[in-house]
Amino acid sequence: MTNMIDLIGNTPLVRLKRASEETGCTILGKAEFLNPGQSVKDRAALFIIRDAVKRGTLEPGGVIVEGTAGNTGIGLALVGNALGFRTVIVIPETQSQEKKDAIRQAGAELIEVPAVPYKNPNNYVKLSGRLAAELAKTEPHGAIWANQFDNTANRDAHINGTGPEIWEQTQGKVDGFICAAGSGGTLGGVSMALKARGDVKIGIADPMGAALYHWYKDGELRSEGSSITEGIGQGRITANLEGVEVDMPYQITDAEALPLVYDLIREEGMVLGGSSAINIAGAIRMAKDMGPGHTIVTVLCDYGYRYASKMFNPDFLRSKDLPVPGWLETTVDIKV
Ligand code: PMP
Repeated sequence: MTNMIDLIGNTPLVRLKRASEETGCTILGKAEFLNPGQSVKDRAALFIIRDAVKRGTLEPGGVIVEGTAGNTGIGLALVGNALGFRTVIVIPETQSQEKKDAIRQAGAELIEVPAVPYKNPNNYVKLSGRLAAELAKTEPHGAIWANQFDNTANRDAHINGTGPEIWEQTQGKVDGFICAAGSGGTLGGVSMALKARGDVKIGIADPMGAALYHWYKDGELRSEGSSITEGIGQGRITANLEGVEVDMPYQITDAEALPLVYDLIREEGMVLGGSSAINIAGAIRMAKDMGPGHTIVTVLCDYGYRYASKMFNPDFLRSKDLPVPGWLETTVDIKV
């Protein structure tokens, strides 16, 4: 008999047909949208909670506090429910309504705050840390701060899960791995697991507005532009990114990435979110640079449904000067 926790991880690898045909490589996506909370962040949520329980900082009935773009909050709320903990989630108000709804529907307490830069003391991450410290004093069973950015139990989920799974699923025939970074847990953990097993090139697909492309290219934390994608785009070296070796950095615009996921819906029947779009665009660039015949793995982080009000909203897309997928606006006139 299995339980909800057993459904986390061991996701399949899906061959991305058009990306593979276009590059002459085998481009595979790890189907993380199939996790019970429908994103890659279920893995981090489970490892962070287990680690806190093991270290004795989280006791039954205790509260988990986190600042998140949403998916970590959904994962923590659901895993927390399954294991007997409450969750309080701090989210920047700019994140999609669909993610906020999913957090509330999971029974977590949701606190929406203005989106301000990390250096501001009222940034959602810093606020969640202060809130956890306060609740730890008043909650009868205590409270912890999950701290996904600088808690390397996050990266451990990918060192022990995602990375070895990719190695086994490809029977060690993996030449490259690439993804974007939010906390850096996925990129950091998978890259460490794969580099420990073989000669695997690591790429980063960095959205506009993030600083890691320039960091890995010329050692400078510098950013330009912006992106509508959520959950990715880091401006600093988090603890989960420390010591991570990136061989091939790429900077990806929304205009390059989003059409790929729109085409994937129509041609391959998968509805993916914006960070998956950035990842697939990065995998295609990496494949072109490595040349035909290579196997490159990337991450399909979550479903596009989680961003319906943005990615599938023509008015929103137009307001950002982004291409609108044609079929969203055509009505078919079929006489019956
Ligand atoms: N994609 C989405 C949709 C996410 O929510 C996140 C996490 N915020 C990521 C990618 C990045 O994952 P990580 O935190 O492991 O870098």
